[in-house]
Amino acid sequence: MKTDSSIPGPLDRESNILLIWWRVWFEHAALLLLEVLPRSFDIFLSLSLILAFSPVLLIRAILAKSLWGKVFDTVELIGQFRTPFLRLGFAGKAPASGLAVLFNILWGDMAFAGPRPMAENEVLLLTPEQGIRFTLRPGLFSPHGLRRKVGIAYDSETSSDIDFYYSETVQGDMGLVARSLIGNLLAGGGLRPTPAVLHFFGVDITNTTMDEAVGWMVRRVKNHEPAFVAFVNPDCLNIAYRHNKYQQVLSAAERVLPDGIGINIGCRLLGVSLMANVNGTDMFPRLCEKAAAEGLSLFLLGAKPGVAEAVSHKMRERFPTLDIAGVRDGYFKAEESGRVVEEINASKADILLVAFGAPKQELWLAEHGEKLTPCVRLGVGGLFDFYSGRLPRAPLWMREIGLEWSWRLLQEPGRMWRRYLIGNPLFLYRVWLQKRPDAAS
Ligand code: UDP
Repeated sequence: MKTDSSIPGPLDRESNILLIWWRVWFEHAALLLLEVLPRSFDIFLSLSLILAFSPVLLIRAILAKSLWGKVFDTVELIGQFRTPFLRLGFAGKAPASGLAVLFNILWGDMAFAGPRPMAENEVLLLTPEQGIRFTLRPGLFSPHGLRRKVGIAYDSETSSDIDFYYSETVQGDMGLVARSLIGNLLAGGGLRPTPAVLHFFGVDITNTTMDEAVGWMVRRVKNHEPAFVAFVNPDCLNIAYRHNKYQQVLSAAERVLPDGIGINIGCRLLGVSLMANVNGTDMFPRLCEKAAAEGLSLFLLGAKPGVAEAVSHKMRERFPTLDIAGVRDGYFKAEESGRVVEEINASKADILLVAFGAPKQELWLAEHGEKLTPCVRLGVGGLFDFYSGRLPRAPLWMREIGLEWSWRLLQEPGRMWRRYLIGNPLFLYRVWLQKRPDAAS
């Protein structure tokens, strides 16, 4: 007699039940470990810091009690499982008032790493999806807080919280604490004014957010108002320092946008605050998404043969309604420019991205701007190489501590060493010169 092998026999059924039991236990054990390990890290680190700083804490407590009549100031915040708790600070604000939060971490009200603690009025406005943050202890350092500090918080706080929720590990927590401390050193400090325009030796940079900048470009297209947009990093500002024509072209641009951690550090040196690192590489997918939603078309000009095509395929896979009206590589002779302009105009693209590297792309756009019909034109540097997959981009943790430049240096040391190893200190030196009280204003 033939038996149907797809029907489980009694033995198979037994092993299936065993397997299910094993999985249930395994998952429970894993969940327990995920909860227990980060908590042990918090207890260990907070206790060690409390012990290490005990003389400071004691002096601070005595000072607070004798000067302000109480040891702690408290703020009511909402913690894990929506339980309210009092966040401690030594009375009388600075200095060292924030160290009292170590006790909150030791008690378990807070963790070193976690979503930002919120006040009740903020919590009332959250959607159920955003409520996922309350399954975790609120953190002294949050992934979104870190990204905001270094100017790369382009996605919503909720999406950062959800990513954190699904990926939390002890190593991850330790990494976040370390990166937050570095981020604070690079771009932190007290409150500084946030001017609408940032001045770096003759170049005016618009101080804005990623969303605003993308929205502005789309509005320019819709209103048929031509715009030339440039991104500048410290290297570009170093070039503009000596290259009059490039500086003039940047002055004539409708917008110059800040690219990279160097501008952030430069702002800190000048005593002002950068709203966001609005660089082309992070803007590109957001611009594609918005263009797809608004029915605007793009032309990609630049990089080695085949690269812009690969970018076009990848972005159309990601945003199926995206209209890439044309692509062309960036290796053609100067005398072929006329034909390239005709090709771009024939595509009827609304937005033109030119990737020849700075200042070549800006100079080309300025020279041919009169004849070009795409309404918004941007010089975007090496970003096609990243989005085609030709060069991998620096991982997020490196970008969070302002080390994307060192990644690029490692990728192309021969081409990049001068730009970064000489250019970065030179830029900071020039900012310092500009900042000196006796500098020409
Ligand atoms: N490139 C080009 N034509 C040229 C010279 C360069 O298309 O005549 C491309 C090059 O292939 C690369 C980009 O321009 O994709 C320059 O990248 P780089 O990293 O220098 O730009 P950055 O973002 O640093 O300004």
